[in-house]
Amino acid sequence: MIDIINKAKSEHDLTKDEIIFLLSCEDGSLIFKAADEIRKQYVGDEVHLRALIEFSNICRCNCVYCGLRSQNRDVERYRLSKKQILESAQKAADFGYKTIVLQSGEDVFFTADYLAEIIKEIKNLDVAVTLSIGERTFEEYKILKDAGADRFLLRIETTDKKLYEKCHPNANFENRVRCLRDLKKLGFETGTGCLVGLPEQTIESLADDILFFKDLDADMIGIGPLIVHPHTPLKDKPNGNFDLALRVMSLTRLLMPDINIPATTAMETLNPQGRIIALQSGANVVMPNLTDNDARIKYEIYPNKAGINYTELSEKLSQIGRTISCTKGFRGNKNSPLSLNPSPAGRGKNVNLARTLRKNMTPQETKFWNLVRNNQFQNIKFKRQYPIGPYIVDFIAIQHMLVVELDGGGHNTDSQQKYDIERAKYITSRGFKILRFWNNDIDNNIEGVFETISQTLRDSN
Ligand code: SF4
Repeated sequence: MIDIINKAKSEHDLTKDEIIFLLSCEDGSLIFKAADEIRKQYVGDEVHLRALIEFSNICRCNCVYCGLRSQNRDVERYRLSKKQILESAQKAADFGYKTIVLQSGEDVFFTADYLAEIIKEIKNLDVAVTLSIGERTFEEYKILKDAGADRFLLRIETTDKKLYEKCHPNANFENRVRCLRDLKKLGFETGTGCLVGLPEQTIESLADDILFFKDLDADMIGIGPLIVHPHTPLKDKPNGNFDLALRVMSLTRLLMPDINIPATTAMETLNPQGRIIALQSGANVVMPNLTDNDARIKYEIYPNKAGINYTELSEKLSQIGRTISCTKGFRGNKNSPLSLNPSPAGRGKNVNLARTLRKNMTPQETKFWNLVRNNQFQNIKFKRQYPIGPYIVDFIAIQHMLVVELDGGGHNTDSQQKYDIERAKYITSRGFKILRFWNNDIDNNIEGVFETISQTLRDSN
């Protein structure tokens, strides 16, 4: 178990079987601790607060777990006016919130053009805008993006297609995935996540969910345990398991170290200390609800939603060594090793390419990797095929700001040399030193290669 956790901590990659093992093992405490360490290393101690405004509880969908489903006649429906939404946004900005989250059921009254007007006005408050309004077309998402929206939350809930379609009558799994990919394509910081505890959900499918988040290169992941609503078809089912939801969240942090992960309200609703426990197990975001009370009690996706008292929250945060951020809190932070890649949209492409390159290493790369992996060389942590901005370097020791590149004969051509110069300029501008070796050196003089690396490290100390 410890080996798998260490692998997750150093490589941020696990096989499906390894994820299943960690989701099923008896005691999750080591996973939570490791996720907390990685959270600290990559996104720091700041907690980002996002002000949530639930502006309409009207929904055309009929999700079997949700109290707002269209067939639930026992809920009093409401829709805030543009003026009310803007007043709530102003209140949040005056209070110091740097992100406003506009959330609703799938309410077609709010067309993309109408929402765009609202977004443009909120953007004048110098805040980031996150939308959580469900499935729309590419063109509608584009209107929202062009209006200035920064982020979009759309949970996949489960990647088990059969289960998804059972839980979402008349919905289409492929369309959900299409929406998420469109959001990424448009440059939204894209959030997704899953519901833990759906009937017939398996550990295997939860492992698939985590791998899906990684494949999508989502920027935010919200994990919530199922909390059963009495006016839904799931009313006789048990609630989700807090510990399992926490494990899914912690493993997501280990595999996606620089993303934003909320300590969800559902965690706190299921466990009175749930929010703080989540923050100590990988989470770094809290979403206080700033919807006016009258409306808030009608936005009942599940019952007895936990509230947040700001003073109490800030006291609890300081007790656990955390501070409230005063930034907009986009993915990563300036100290994160992964913030070396400046483009959220480009990062997904590069991460996928890096993964492909890792699977197709040259014999020399494989030889070098086998000698440095798992801190074998002078206890230095090397990573392979690592994205830095638009480039992917062969090997990197982040702590020592050292890049190692292995070159074959193809680097002799004029065009390749020009490209290499540009590439080196960019990488060194980010503070890295680059050591280049010919494949021939790896084949015939590996001792010399390691001596050069040692000497470089000594010189830079
Ligand atoms: S989960 Fe969202 S989309 Fe589904 S019924 Fe509830 S509000 Fe509507």
